[in-house]
Amino acid sequence: MKSLAIGILASVLMLMGWSTTLIAQEQSDELHRFYEEKPALVVGIIVDQMRPDYIDRYWDMLSDDGFRRLVGEGFTFTHAKFDYMPTATGAGHAGVYAGTTPSEHGAIGNSWFVRELGRGMNVIEVPGYEGVGSAPGYDGSKGPGNLLTTTFGDELRLHTNKRSKVVSMSRKDRGAIIPAGHLGDAYWYEASTGNFVTSTFYHDELPEWVASFNSRNLAQFYLSEPWETLHPIENYTASIADDNPYERRYVEEVPPVFPHNLPVLVEEYGLDPGLLSYTAFSDELLLEFALAAIEGESLGVRDVTDILAISFSALDGVGHMFGPASVEVQDTFLRLDLLIARLLTHLDEHAGEGNYLLFLTSDHGAPHVPEYLTDLGIPGGYVDLDEEEKAVRAFMTETWGEDFLLAISNFQLYFDHAAIDRAGLEHAAVEVKTTRFLLTRNGVAGALPANVLAFNEFTRGIRGWVQYGYHQKRSGDVMFWLEPHTNRGTRYQGTDHNAPWVYDTHAPMHWYGWTVQAGRSSLPVFISDIASTVANFLGSPLPSGNTGNPMNRYMK
Ligand SMILES: [Zn+2]
Repeated sequence: MKSLAIGILASVLMLMGWSTTLIAQEQSDELHRFYEEKPALVVGIIVDQMRPDYIDRYWDMLSDDGFRRLVGEGFTFTHAKFDYMPTATGAGHAGVYAGTTPSEHGAIGNSWFVRELGRGMNVIEVPGYEGVGSAPGYDGSKGPGNLLTTTFGDELRLHTNKRSKVVSMSRKDRGAIIPAGHLGDAYWYEASTGNFVTSTFYHDELPEWVASFNSRNLAQFYLSEPWETLHPIENYTASIADDNPYERRYVEEVPPVFPHNLPVLVEEYGLDPGLLSYTAFSDELLLEFALAAIEGESLGVRDVTDILAISFSALDGVGHMFGPASVEVQDTFLRLDLLIARLLTHLDEHAGEGNYLLFLTSDHGAPHVPEYLTDLGIPGGYVDLDEEEKAVRAFMTETWGEDFLLAISNFQLYFDHAAIDRAGLEHAAVEVKTTRFLLTRNGVAGALPANVLAFNEFTRGIRGWVQYGYHQKRSGDVMFWLEPHTNRGTRYQGTDHNAPWVYDTHAPMHWYGWTVQAGRSSLPVFISDIASTVANFLGSPLPSGNTGNPMNRYMK
């Protein structure tokens, strides 16, 4: 009996051992598979100025195959944030692709004052190149040179010995150039001609597929019909009345209501193809270009992972004009939803369903039009930065007998350091006194002097967001931010962004395809977490300045 029991026990143990070996083998195979199987394509989508609440707000009118598909079959993070200011396109695109904040990647805004040049400089302005495919006289010397760190695309290119392609596109030059990183290709829309162009940083001439796309003259096509709502306008109950006092106008004489007669605006009022940027149709044009790029570059069907970066800007153009509560923004979003559906269907057919990894986020949000909010009793307003500049200059002259202000740029005051030295003043004293003065101004919520940011570390809240937006060499001497629901400028219509407040810092965050499971999480994540997440999916190196943390562990 005893020996039988021992015999059974021995066989059970043997079987257990055998099955443990089997499990270990399976786990090992699974881990090996990670190194052997990669997605054919990574598709990065940035929707410029997209607030995450648009999906909920317009849910009833969304199609089944666009945003609803991303939400139903993909993974959604409901608490994704930008953790810096200014929340602008340049900084936003860099944050997504470089996996860090302006304090490290150096793209501290769309443009900023450069002391050595004595003027403002655009984030994509680099000397020594020319426009390719652009109109004569167009300043085409553009490239990623002001981005100080690498992107996940750069690292993938280095990792695969440049076999992987990175192809990036946008209506905006910066929306295309920054995601392309230092080693990718970028194409952007040239408003004066309606063509997609590049610079000699990338190519000496346009690839055949780009030239042939341009010859289709699609910009002219989209401007040849009035912009009507996709559905009967009475169904747009998620938006305020189409005729309202909070919207900007294409031209002063024409009320901002549907249908927007685009051909009349072009022919009678002389608006150029740049008008397209302020309609829903610039996204349609961009989608067509993206589909042409997939074909033209054979993306997603090669033996190595490629990256397709698409930055849709229509919502930003339309949002600035009409504000988040407008019928125009709703219609632009509903049309974008159909474009996302078309893109997913195309990728299914081309790269194969489950073979591509896709993320969708934004570069910043937007507040409701301040005057709309103040009419409802919510505090807010406008600050004319030209008036602030005059006030700061007057304060300096009165206090020190001299005006040290070089410029106000990017919500930062830049001082003339040499002049402060000549006057025998302490830099910190000038910073602190000017900060105190700024805090007496209406509409200014807070300010921090550079010496405080350079030698302290704020890690959360608005002071933290200012810290992460502060670059020791590129930023100014005093950073400031405006009260909630307060936009810069004197225009009492349309909206803006750049603030550290939640309406500008709360972002959509959707992952879809490849090994992503359907799900939803309210765990806090940051935009700078995207790059390391992609790198984790691909097993490729992290961008050089990466400070974000991968989200992969939440998407199981
Ligand atoms: Zn904008």
